[in-house]
Amino acid sequence: MAGSGDGDSDSDRDRDKDRDKDRDKDAVRTGRRPAGSSRDAALPGLLLATGQFLPVTDIHRLAQTSGLTRLVMDADGCVLDAGRTARRATRRQRRAILARYTRCMVDHCPMPAHLCQIDHITNWSDGGATDLDNLGPTCQFHNRDRYRHPERYRLHRIGKDRWGFTYIGTRSKG
Ligand SMILES: [Zn+2]
Repeated sequence: MAGSGDGDSDSDRDRDKDRDKDRDKDAVRTGRRPAGSSRDAALPGLLLATGQFLPVTDIHRLAQTSGLTRLVMDADGCVLDAGRTARRATRRQRRAILARYTRCMVDHCPMPAHLCQIDHITNWSDGGATDLDNLGPTCQFHNRDRYRHPERYRLHRIGKDRWGFTYIGTRSKG
């Protein structure tokens, strides 16, 4: 909030924020990426079948509830999200994951990410997609142990684009 007599800097900032919000709304409505916007969450997805731009939340919902395949590409047009079309992470996906993680996703595991396997957060066998947001590095031990004993691990978000697992051990149910 701009206080009275603070000069124009605070109110300028507020005005800039409002302009950014309007720009993001405009991007969703028109499908055009606003210049200077860094908030990808507000960017739309393109429905290739119709050429229609939709809010990215609608694209995610459609991809989950229909036979559509969602493909997310980087600036070079390389696929980063492959949905259910392929189980194994691509080299590009691996590179993007190694840019996000330095170690195994399990808390306190010291295994460097570049020595880890790329693991599905929601297992492929349970319908998990080969999408960046569903992939992360786990060491061979944690990959197998988490697959065999999912009840031993609790998933949590780290920041906006990473996941972590906390080992909670062999607690009895109830
Ligand atoms: Zn590990």
